[in-house]
Amino acid sequence: MPAAPTPLRSWIAAANDAACDFPIQNLPYGVFSVGGGPRRCGVAIGDMIVDLAACEARGLLNAGGTFAAPRLNDFIALGRARWDQIRSRLTQLLAEDGDHSLPLVAMADTTLHLPIRVTEFTDFYASRNHAYNVGVLFRGPENALPPQWTHMPIGYNGRASSVVVSGTDIRRPMGQVRGEAGPEWTACRRLDLELELAAIVGADSRMGERVGVEAAEQMIFGYTLLNDWSARDIQAWEYQPLGPFQSKALATTIGPWIVTQAALEPFRSGGAPRDNDILAYLREERPGFYDLNLGWTMNGQQMCRTNYNVMYWSSAQQLAHHAVSGCPMRVGDLLGSGTISGPSRDQMGALLEMTGNGKSTVTVNGETRTFIEDGDEIGLFGFAQGQGYRIGFGPCTGRILPANG
Ligand code: MN
Repeated sequence: MPAAPTPLRSWIAAANDAACDFPIQNLPYGVFSVGGGPRRCGVAIGDMIVDLAACEARGLLNAGGTFAAPRLNDFIALGRARWDQIRSRLTQLLAEDGDHSLPLVAMADTTLHLPIRVTEFTDFYASRNHAYNVGVLFRGPENALPPQWTHMPIGYNGRASSVVVSGTDIRRPMGQVRGEAGPEWTACRRLDLELELAAIVGADSRMGERVGVEAAEQMIFGYTLLNDWSARDIQAWEYQPLGPFQSKALATTIGPWIVTQAALEPFRSGGAPRDNDILAYLREERPGFYDLNLGWTMNGQQMCRTNYNVMYWSSAQQLAHHAVSGCPMRVGDLLGSGTISGPSRDQMGALLEMTGNGKSTVTVNGETRTFIEDGDEIGLFGFAQGQGYRIGFGPCTGRILPANG
């Protein structure tokens, strides 16, 4: 039997550790600062960040000055040819025979910021298991899956204004819920997380023009982890007929690192089996999912592990559907996949499903929970497993603060 191929290695030792999220095969983009210094763009490698603005100032890279910006939007807008150029140049500079004088900063000395200015945020509902389980809880097994669900990606327009980066504390919301004798004003009693993957749109589309699925995939720059914090008691009272509103507007946490589509390409995979034929504008020529391990933790304890390849609708299909009315898409648009849940309890991407809307409990470090308590910290994780390396997403955490009653 031939030996497994030796993966490409970097002159940065930590990047060659098989358990490191950021090997030379990954090269995810983020925005960082040091001390009170300005925000600028960087790429994670091992336990270091490549200072891309400094690289460009030295003439090592050419991105039209966009890496000195406090967000990645300007770089992303340069387009796919430039993304590929920068990626291959960075691979060369970071390889074992690369440039050992590259401007680097120790990740531990930096603050990580929102990697993009979020143009708009749309959240979908694309895991069959999740849609069915939640449908049973809210409407019973007869009407669990709405009739259009297997024919189109269902979504709602979320709030870009409340998207925050990993590590930001989240305030428990106050709101209106259904009470015994009418509406009640209360601190949310059923605060939940949603494990999701978000696609970052990397190119504009024109108003009035549809986008084919193939073209849609070419428009995606990369992916990051996304926690769609959800107030289930507020949601249950408000969601009909126009969908979630304040139950989802409190906050959405995303990871600090955007893993590029190029880094995930070797892990391309099919998704869930299809129930029925779909209209031509949504058909994919090749599978649009990734073999990507995903999960979440509560106060450091792993609660769930699932995979992105359980999903029914890919990001490219979601983008194509989003633009089908002629709605223009923009660089920096964030498309949440929808909660990612496998069939079993330890593969569920939300407490709503795991506890049957609070009917059962889960155990976390010896304590019981139905939903998230004040002081709890939720973390998401994600990685694609290669041979001798892994493409990781880094942290996506948030701790809950008590409500301002
Ligand atoms: Mn969601």
